[in-house]
Amino acid sequence: MMRVELLNVPVDSLTMEQCVERVAELIKAGGPRRVITLNPEILYRAVQFDHTLLELINRADLVTADGEGIVWAGRVAGLPFPERVTGIDLMLRLVERAAAKGWSIYLLGSAPGVAEEAAANLIRRYPGLQVAGTRHGYFKPDEEAGLAQAIKQAAPQLLFVALGAPAQEKWIDRHIEHLGSMVAIGVGGSMDVISGRVVRAPLWMRKLKIEWLGRLLKEPSRWRRMLVLPKFAWLVLKTYRFSRK
Ligand code: UDP
Repeated sequence: MMRVELLNVPVDSLTMEQCVERVAELIKAGGPRRVITLNPEILYRAVQFDHTLLELINRADLVTADGEGIVWAGRVAGLPFPERVTGIDLMLRLVERAAAKGWSIYLLGSAPGVAEEAAANLIRRYPGLQVAGTRHGYFKPDEEAGLAQAIKQAAPQLLFVALGAPAQEKWIDRHIEHLGSMVAIGVGGSMDVISGRVVRAPLWMRKLKIEWLGRLLKEPSRWRRMLVLPKFAWLVLKTYRFSRK
């Protein structure tokens, strides 16, 4: 497996297909497993000020290059990634494989109703899919233990967690060791899209690599989070372009 270091953070240099294979291997091997879809926001946060986040990325079994920003940074660093592997695309490919292999899935997160609607759409799309459970993502701290117990009892092979980054990565890291054998993945807003409540940017925008612009136009409140992107770009250029002797 090809693992590289981008700004001292591990990232797996794999195609979507290879990531799916890797998850299949992890399920087969058993044990608590973590997958992180790494975007520039998380990477920047981890290297600049969030040491807990950096440590948990280092513990992950698979870290994918999520987004054009990471793919671009890889090019600048001389570590070309074969393609971007986003949370939603990986989730859909894994669910397809789950239906074929008989793995069950658990959907945790997003607003009340979203996980159920997403599950219904996934079952329609992939007949035979086993959904072990669903639960919305607006629980109180004192409900966490019960929630973890419910997931443990449901014993899915795949746990998708949509609480927003990096809360979902931290949630997974806090609980995964007690949940039993399963692969947990943070998927951000993916369930909002799969449920049909949020419409993804059109394919032409994705092809032009401006999906982020589509998201921004639809959810203007995202602009604040995007302020980190120029800082991330600068850090990448400073590290890999301007500091070479
Ligand atoms: N969310 C949640 N609980 C919370 C905060 C957020 O379940 O306490 C959900 C929210 O409803 C949304 C997802 O987490 O479905 C975050 O989506 P976003 O597009 O912000 O994901 P990101 O881009 O941060 O990965």
